[in-house]
This record gives sequence, C-alpha cells and structure tokens, in this order.
Amino acid sequence: MRDVVDLHTHTIASGHAYNTIQEMVQAAKKRGLEFYGITEHAPAMPGSCTAMYFQNLKVLPREREGITVLFGAELNILDFEGHVDLPQDTLAQLDLAIASMHTPCFSGGSKEENTRAYLKAMENPFIHIIGHPDDGRYPVDYDALARGAAEQQVLLEVNNSSLAPGSYRADSAEHYRAMLTACKKYHTPVVIDSDAHVDLDVAVHSLAHQLLSEMDFPEELVVNARPALLKKYLNYGKR
Ligand SMILES: [Zn+2]
Ligand SMILES: [Zn+2]
Repeated sequence: MRDVVDLHTHTIASGHAYNTIQEMVQAAKKRGLEFYGITEHAPAMPGSCTAMYFQNLKVLPREREGITVLFGAELNILDFEGHVDLPQDTLAQLDLAIASMHTPCFSGGSKEENTRAYLKAMENPFIHIIGHPDDGRYPVDYDALARGAAEQQVLLEVNNSSLAPGSYRADSAEHYRAMLTACKKYHTPVVIDSDAHVDLDVAVHSLAHQLLSEMDFPEELVVNARPALLKKYLNYGKR
C-alpha cells in the first residue's frame, strides 16, 4: 500500500520527545512523506507546551523541504463529556487536532463512559482524529466508536507505537482487530500514524500495515494512501 502520510509526531516541545522540528521534517522528507504532521501534547500533559505555543504556530511555514508540514496538537480528553485542554478559538487555528486519552490527564471509566467521551469529543468540529483508541486501560465499544466516527467524519487512528513490543498500551492488536472490523462495517476511514517521539520513528508504520493486511482492510479507507482525501478531514483543507 502507498503510504505518504504521518500526522502524529512530537518534538522536544512536548517535553518527553527528543528532536527538533527541523530534524523531524528532514526524517519525514527522507522517508518520502508528502503530508507530515507535528502534534505536540496539549497543556494538560505534564512538561508540554502552554496554550501560547499553539497560538503562535502561524509563524511556521507549512511547506518545508518540499513537503507539506501540518502543525497541530494532541489534545487530552479530560472528562466523559469529551472536553479537551485547548480553547475552541485556539483549536480553530490549528491545521489538525488529535484527541487522545492519557493516564496523567484522565482516569477513564466504564466502557460506556469512555465511549461517550470519544463520541462527545468527535462532535467538536475542530477534532479530526481519535488518537490510539486501543488502550486496554480505557475499554471502548468499537462498534459505536466506528459508527460515530463515520457519522462525524473523524478519522480513527491505527497507532504504530501502540503495536510495538513493550508498549504500555495493553493488547492493542486485539483492540485494533475489533475496531477495524467495525470500520469495515461502517466504512469508517482510518489513518496510520507513527506517534514518533524521536526522528528514527517518523513514518515507521510497518506493524500497522501488517495488521491491516492480515485483516484484508480496504485500501480506500486508509487516508495514508490517499493524501488528496485528507484535506477533507482537516482544518488545513478548509482554509
Ligand atoms: Zn498519545
Ligand atoms: Zn502522541
């Protein structure tokens, strides 16, 4: 499968990642990406950027090294109403926003409560991707998640880092099998992301590709193979 997109990565600005924007963009260019996203952790994550960091992203050019570089945020879902940790007027300025559950910011609840949190977050017009909804610590109703994502035109992420040996997100492959089965049923598009915290991991998607291929997942539902389709799902394309 053609794959020229990686929308979820972090630089030193996130506080627990190790390369600069320029180093990450060079890695993206070297690996043949056409659309590359930098999505720092939003302010509720200990050690990450303040809101002002995100409000000033306008100073950065979106074309670098001959590729399109999108700047956004990986938001923290904070409650079962799907509230996140940047204000709407800041989200409106970002190229893209991923909403994720992280243990330092959200303790989660029952399957019904977590599913509600994701579905409510998806109703936010400035949230484009649900990040790593594969974590056994946050059980989810994948049928409801995939149906909601299709309705709201939000992408569900297949996160390569979650699938890597040693990931602290337990049983991700098993959860992705359930999610992808539901995505096939509702024609819900997915995006494969590296979630790189170091330049060596940019565009590393091999475990996700392996899983999609095992499941015979339809290529037309994978936006990595169809960059033109991506703009439909992001703020970037609406400008
Ligand atoms: Zn995350
Ligand atoms: Zn991340």
